[in-house]
Amino acid sequence: MVRMQDLVFRYREGGFELRVESLRVGRGERVAVVGPSGSGKTTLLHLAAGIVVPQHGRVETNATELSALDDGRRRDFRARHVGYVFQSFELLGYLDVLDNILLPFRVNPTLSLDAAARERAVSLARRVGIADKLPRRPGQLSQGEQQRAAVCRALVARPGLILADEPTGNLDAKNKQRVMEILHEQALAEGASLVVVTHDLDLLQDFERVVDFQELVGSQESVS
Ligand code: ADP
Ligand code: MG
Repeated sequence: MVRMQDLVFRYREGGFELRVESLRVGRGERVAVVGPSGSGKTTLLHLAAGIVVPQHGRVETNATELSALDDGRRRDFRARHVGYVFQSFELLGYLDVLDNILLPFRVNPTLSLDAAARERAVSLARRVGIADKLPRRPGQLSQGEQQRAAVCRALVARPGLILADEPTGNLDAKNKQRVMEILHEQALAEGASLVVVTHDLDLLQDFERVVDFQELVGSQESVS
């Protein structure tokens, strides 16, 4: 569950400003966010995850006010509650793909990295067609394979909130479908909220709600 209220966010440099009067994503709700490049969609997901905090207003995720927590507590919150598929994947180059997928088990102290966790990682990888790539480093994978590994990592610890930033941007039609299926299926299975930024209009029909980013932020423009 995400609630944003009267939010204003500015980067330290560059002059981009994001204003969101009100955004709510209910528990278990599956929402797509669409909008032009550079409009602030990634920034919005970063705010929902507490990667950045607004200068004004509130961001509440899973009933925790993220804007009131320091960096360390927000990191801890993310590790426990959020599965995030980064637009640029953010896989760690020095770990193999399996260990990348299992990363949430290393950063969340309430989870133990046991045989069941490994099985789940392998099973997710199989579902998205990268099971044979698990011993490799991310640098030895195609962009599309890295993207699928990032999706597995976001889902492996059964987070209550799944945030995915253009998670099918590098995929062919078949893999797009596999990735979207697994995102929806896992959200439904865990009662998790799912927020997906996408440019792919074909995918919108599977969501309960589509948020048009430009309507969300009104007619404001970047002040840069
Ligand atoms: P989108 O995901 O919709 O393409 P972003 O949220 O990535 O948009 O970016 C919104 C705006 O903020 C863009 O103008 C971008 O250049 C700017 N921006 C993104 N990250 C930073 C940053 N770290 N510092 C300053 N400006 C940034
Ligand atoms: Mg983006």
